[in-house]
Amino acid sequence: MSTEQNQSSFQSLGLSNDILRAVTECGYTTPTPIQQQAIPTVMAGHDLLAAAQTGTGKTAGFTLPLLHKLSSTKTEGKPIIKALILTPTRELAAQVEDNLNTYAKYTGLKSLVIFGGVGINPQINALRRGVDILVATPGRLLDHSRQGTVDLSKIDVLILDEADRMLDMGFIHDIKKVMKLIPEKRQTLLFSATFSSEIKALSQQFMQQPKLIEVARQNAAADTIEQRVYPVDKKRKRELLSYLIGSRNWRQVLVFTRTKHGANRLATQLTDDGLPAMAIHGNKSQGARTKALAQFKAGKLRVLVATDIAARGIDIDELPHVINFELPQVAEDYVHRIGRTGRAGSEGEAASLVCVDEHKLLRDIEKLTKNEIPKDVIPGFEPDPSIKPEPIQKPRTGRPQNSRRAPRQKRPDARR
Ligand code: AMP
Repeated sequence: MSTEQNQSSFQSLGLSNDILRAVTECGYTTPTPIQQQAIPTVMAGHDLLAAAQTGTGKTAGFTLPLLHKLSSTKTEGKPIIKALILTPTRELAAQVEDNLNTYAKYTGLKSLVIFGGVGINPQINALRRGVDILVATPGRLLDHSRQGTVDLSKIDVLILDEADRMLDMGFIHDIKKVMKLIPEKRQTLLFSATFSSEIKALSQQFMQQPKLIEVARQNAAADTIEQRVYPVDKKRKRELLSYLIGSRNWRQVLVFTRTKHGANRLATQLTDDGLPAMAIHGNKSQGARTKALAQFKAGKLRVLVATDIAARGIDIDELPHVINFELPQVAEDYVHRIGRTGRAGSEGEAASLVCVDEHKLLRDIEKLTKNEIPKDVIPGFEPDPSIKPEPIQKPRTGRPQNSRRAPRQKRPDARR
């Protein structure tokens, strides 16, 4: 497709030239389905309730029309916060702000990201200098509000990104507190992977006649992702993982474990096997998480081992391999995990190492995704049929089994 055609496709949505220029520089050819629907809706000023998962292009779906709107009303002088984007995790907050920065390049609009786990003073200074768009996790935002270092009284647009995950992480009270700090007369956009009854209740309470947008079938894994199950005994999983990575020469591998402890142990074992690996989870400092992610993205670190929430929203272009070292206890998390690969049309591969204890979890996943995943027994790793299934131990701080809701945590954004 020629550049002219590319532009006209985004151009037909009515975005300003400053924004179109940045979009073209990103190499985007056509708006994704969520963008085609969300951009005109947001530009028309409607509230929006959108069911869209990471990987659909949802971030540009709300940031592009937001920038368009704010740049057309921007006044001279020190910027004041006109838009607030709330996200469940620090990683997602940083990623959204990174995208905003890219798309805002020619608009003169300033954005800032604030989250816990890092010093508050640089954030206070940046807020003092003035920003147009604030991206934040709820805990740290409320810290600033309590200290009087942020003014949310001029907000025109509020965006809740991955709202379902915010509720899962126990942020509902924080969200309600934030709602009291911002004007009632505003535009509200809510993005969520699923429309649960809690999400519907939230939208009824805080939104005005929202337009509904739903892209892709709910809980259906992206068609571009090749999925495979490797049956194996629990105690041989690590060995099989090293074998697969090594023998198939997988270069950039995101591995999911159920627990933080399991992530640490696996990263150490893989490194001992000659496969450089690091773990990211809530017990790691923000610096360590950012560093591991940057090295992984740059291709300097072959394997990144992550827990579900730490990995949520990680955006890596064309991530080729996602491995479920252990299946998640909540079937929806499988869809989120493998959504890290095969993003926006590129191809990906998702492999799950499944032991006898996990057969029920696998059935739940296949039922949810309405798809039977092909099984591939690797010679030399055949499961021992005499091993009987044992109950799966719950992660100590994870969500309870059969529930999507985590116990209320005091400051979840500062810990995961
Ligand atoms: P998201 O769902 O917002 O996390 O976006 C997923 C990925 O798709 C990101 O790497 C974006 O940079 C990319 N992306 C967003 N919009 C487009 C587009 N129109 N064409 C190609 N890639 C896109």
